Amino acid sequence: MHTNSIIELNKNAYLNNIQFLRKIFGKKVILSSVVKGNAYGHGLHEFATMANDCGVNHFSVFDVEEAKLIRAALSSKVTIMIMGFVPDQDMEWVIANVVEFYVFDKSRLSTAVKVAKKLKTRAIVHIEIETGMNRTGFNKQELSYVITTLKKENQHLIFKGLCTHYAGAESITNYYRVEKQIKKFKEIDDYICNNGIQPEIKHTACSAASMMYPETRMDLVRIGIMQYGLWSSPEIFVNFLNSTKSKIDPLQRIIAWKSTIMSTKKVNSGEFIGYGTSFLAERKMKIAVVPIGYAHGYSRSLSNQGRVLIQGHRCTVIGSVNMNMMTIDVTDIDTVKKEDEVVLIGSQNEMTVSVASFSDLSNQLNYELLTRIAKTIPRKIIQ
Ligand SMILES: *Cc1c(COP(=O)(O)O)cnc(C)c1O
Repeated sequence: MHTNSIIELNKNAYLNNIQFLRKIFGKKVILSSVVKGNAYGHGLHEFATMANDCGVNHFSVFDVEEAKLIRAALSSKVTIMIMGFVPDQDMEWVIANVVEFYVFDKSRLSTAVKVAKKLKTRAIVHIEIETGMNRTGFNKQELSYVITTLKKENQHLIFKGLCTHYAGAESITNYYRVEKQIKKFKEIDDYICNNGIQPEIKHTACSAASMMYPETRMDLVRIGIMQYGLWSSPEIFVNFLNSTKSKIDPLQRIIAWKSTIMSTKKVNSGEFIGYGTSFLAERKMKIAVVPIGYAHGYSRSLSNQGRVLIQGHRCTVIGSVNMNMMTIDVTDIDTVKKEDEVVLIGSQNEMTVSVASFSDLSNQLNYELLTRIAKTIPRKIIQ
């Protein structure tokens, strides 16, 4: 098969990250692998398969489409939890396939009851409560309705979880707001208990909260970015380093993105390279063309800025990133030729292009950059 590029997922790196996280959280806390956004660009099918091989059996997704992909890839033994979108017409599939889901408004609660009745089974729900994020979640005044319904319909509803999400736990500037949310969650939890019902589990933490606010771990942590080997923010990383003797990053990147040189060309001094006039050759140059562009998820904002590895050298993207191609300055490496490997993210010899430096350059978050990598690029698990 000829492809423009390939994405490799490093299973040993993943095992390392999972072991590190499990050691911090302990055995009693369920680790849910957050795989929304095509597993943060890693490729949902391949990533979930690899994670399951490494002992992970709880997955959090955004919508039904992602839930279906995991059900198809893995046995029915894994738990799938939808945190976001469930269209009414998909509720039947969700409940029939024992997929758990967030409930954050009355209409979804009544749809769940209606469909569970029809299927003569029970829907497994996680009640999301509003604590200060102001996105989704039941407000305090809606809770008595929720409690009444959960009690009345307990033949058709399993009150599996009580949950919330923090509004920016990765930044210390949000400290006060997050602390308020933690307090509010406890209050509402008490209120529900005092009304005679209890969830099987409680969960609130994403990667950042699980590191910065240990009390948020509760029964389950929803870990996205850290399992992929990246920190939610430099603050979280520095905070962790301050707590340990060894000043080494315990996380390892899973992803590598590789392509090859499509063609090379010499350019005379004084010529512009690519569209427009953004790059002027100020000397005789040699360029390499790589068949990757913004259509594949290589951001246009990396024009004249991005770095790639060729023959173990760090080389610069010159001119603008096009839809399907970009040009690289290889003037100082005589031996560069067509079909040489080009590393867009990952390592070559001793050199590394990390997602983080990649996104610092383009001024985007790691999250955004990763999820933009095209779904159509083949993914391969390596040991
Ligand atoms: C994305 C998401 C997470 C995971 O966040 P990370 O910062 O990647 O760990 C957890 N909970 C919810 C509700 C999310 O949407």
